[in-house]
Amino acid sequence: MNNNQIKRNILLNPGPSTTTDTVKMAQIVPDICPREKEFAKLMKRLREDLVKIVHGDPDRYVSVLFCGSGTLNIDVCINSLLPADKKVLVINNGAYSARAVEICQYYGLPHIDLQFPSDLRPDLAVVEKTLQENPDIALVHTTHNETGTGILNPIREIGALAHQYGAVFTVDTTSTLAMRPIDIEADNIDFCMASAQKGLMAMTGLSFVIGSRKIIEASKDYPKRSYYCNLYLQYDFFEKTGEMHFTPPVQTVYAAVQALKEYWAEGEEAKWARHTRIFEAIHEGLDKLGFQDVIRREWQAGLVVSVLYPDDPNWDFEKIHDFCYERGFTIYPGKISTANTFRLCALGAIDEQDIRDFFRVFTGALSAYHVAMPVHYDK
Ligand SMILES: *Cc1c(COP(=O)(O)O)cnc(C)c1O
Repeated sequence: MNNNQIKRNILLNPGPSTTTDTVKMAQIVPDICPREKEFAKLMKRLREDLVKIVHGDPDRYVSVLFCGSGTLNIDVCINSLLPADKKVLVINNGAYSARAVEICQYYGLPHIDLQFPSDLRPDLAVVEKTLQENPDIALVHTTHNETGTGILNPIREIGALAHQYGAVFTVDTTSTLAMRPIDIEADNIDFCMASAQKGLMAMTGLSFVIGSRKIIEASKDYPKRSYYCNLYLQYDFFEKTGEMHFTPPVQTVYAAVQALKEYWAEGEEAKWARHTRIFEAIHEGLDKLGFQDVIRREWQAGLVVSVLYPDDPNWDFEKIHDFCYERGFTIYPGKISTANTFRLCALGAIDEQDIRDFFRVFTGALSAYHVAMPVHYDK
């Protein structure tokens, strides 16, 4: 088979991300029953590698794999790690933390939805006051990089507060893990999570929670709110058998194993430097065209740029999107209820040259639809 035949698309959406051909091709393997020792060995290594990515001590931290998209991890953590008669505190300044609130609502869990404006960082004094006034909070949850806006939340500080008040801290790191360096212990994280198609640049369908073995073991006797999505049950099965409780996404696991090889070969620091390069190239291109972004530059996580629609009657996101899509570049709508935005993301196996190529096409789209350049805003 000729790898060069796979068309290379540049995905500037917030995941799934552009993958290498070697990761794509890693899915083409001889058929295997995932209950074979050979497959369990593969998953063991994969689980150890995931803990290593966040610099966790393998004696104290463990990763648990699931078959599903990234939202499954939020579901798993919240439904599995809340003791009886306790409360969840969600620190919510965007769409992905709002999703955690919805999960609490669906399971009927006592929770506090502590909302902050989507373009601001959470006020730590308010977080502390809430913890002080609600000693029954046992689980604090937030999102590291709010993918809807690209704002970076101060997880280390929030984690310190959670621990000070005796709560477990779960962080949705889906749009930072394996890109922006994370140190699970130094960052005061008890549980973080991601899915294989974002930072790892692998395939969709494999997700994982990385966290404290001790806390998972303590959760054995917590109320059971889900069967398929219970953290302890899946952990325990892995520990006893080395396998997923139910059928794993076999070929997706092979792709993830290859993606990890490529992750170590590139290296944490070099990979983060590359994402930063892409992010800066995105800003440079936007600045040249006069676009405004939503989040203060110094608060951005360095991976997602949320851009305001210009005030031009000829601007039509769908048309611009289709123009770029037909030429191999995918841009993505925003996720803020109060403003019309679109997003350009620095994920995936791409580099700054791809961003320069993108801006040539994007400028072509603006020109084709008679959007005035530089773009303008009424206020
Ligand atoms: C992508 C993402 C998810 C997962 O979304 P799915 O559609 O379930 O894959 C969760 N949290 C954050 C912060 C994300 O960026």
